[in-house]
Amino acid sequence: MKKYLIIGSGFSGSVLAQQLCENNIIHVVEERSHIGGNCYTEKDPETGITLHQYGPHIFNTDNVEVWNYIQQFCEMVPFINRVKSVYQNQVYSLPINLHTINQFFQKDFSPKEARSFIESLSDTSIEVPKNFEEQALKFVGKDLYKAFFHGYTKKQWGCEPTELPASILKRLPVRFNYNDNYYAMPLQGIPRNGYTEIFEKMLDHPNITVTLNKKITAEEIDFSEYDHVFYSGPIDAYFDYKYGRLGYRTVFFEKFTDEGDFQGNAVINYADQEIPHTRIHEHKHFTPWEDHEQTVYFKEFSKETEENDIPYYPKRLQGDIEMLEKYSEEKDKLSNITFIGRLATYRYMDMHHVIAEALETAKRFR
Ligand code: UDP
Repeated sequence: MKKYLIIGSGFSGSVLAQQLCENNIIHVVEERSHIGGNCYTEKDPETGITLHQYGPHIFNTDNVEVWNYIQQFCEMVPFINRVKSVYQNQVYSLPINLHTINQFFQKDFSPKEARSFIESLSDTSIEVPKNFEEQALKFVGKDLYKAFFHGYTKKQWGCEPTELPASILKRLPVRFNYNDNYYAMPLQGIPRNGYTEIFEKMLDHPNITVTLNKKITAEEIDFSEYDHVFYSGPIDAYFDYKYGRLGYRTVFFEKFTDEGDFQGNAVINYADQEIPHTRIHEHKHFTPWEDHEQTVYFKEFSKETEENDIPYYPKRLQGDIEMLEKYSEEKDKLSNITFIGRLATYRYMDMHHVIAEALETAKRFR
């Protein structure tokens, strides 16, 4: 039997632990007071509503292996995220689809008409978009860009969209039909009892020990005690920020409790730059199969990470990428530790990417 130390109990750490525990001894160390990382959910003691404490998580994937795997630990109830966007006191459908286009330009275009209209708005001088703004101008033209992406993105990322990679916008589709499913992935759902149950089940094994409330630095790891270490914390923190801090955005929430239905939808984005929050999520709409008279909603704000903030979104600006290269060189010199997941590899990964990566990594250590 080998002995493995896993730092972090989000999807990276928990999937690894679950995959490796049959034939190995696993110690999971988690700095927070709970397992599950940012996917952690809990029932609100006052209303009984399942709260996504670190922001909404809607499971969506095109990876059948990951979809089948996750369902060993939960019942995924099909869920389609239909996001709305408020811009200048009007409510629009997202992602940009035929309804959005017709509403915004006050037209009744058919799919074909809308496509050629949007093509006529596209900035054709941009051949290969070099950044978020160019991608948007090429994709939908300046009016839709200004309305739905410019203000929101400045709030969300705290910088000019010209500084951000084009890949961030490529996450969102533009559709010339009335499909308002936010995600393009074929498999989508929400775990019936929340996400925390998934992590509890993954980590429930006699060979797995979980230590909570323990922040561990590189110096504190006793490598002689373990055959291998898996690290899912931030890569810059591991090297004690010797080359500086990688740029991350964090989000924070204001929580409200009320009677009835606050906004009639799970997620509404606020595109105007003057409105300080980026979006509002009303959590009972993530479990439409439950009946709740009360409601809880979170206003979400975004800001640059400071020392004790939880890093959410890797910014990956030019300077960050250069810094990451230096950290990666250091990392590549180490053979007894594997860096895994969003924070340790500094990539904008969704849940299903993280799970797929952990499943793949585990194959080498069974
Ligand atoms: N975005 C935007 N307006 C919106 C929604 C998204 O400008 O109403 C931009 C924003 O920069 C965001 C990116 O598109 O970071 C990707 O959106 P996604 O919904 O994938 O972000 P996430 O779910 O990761 O927060």
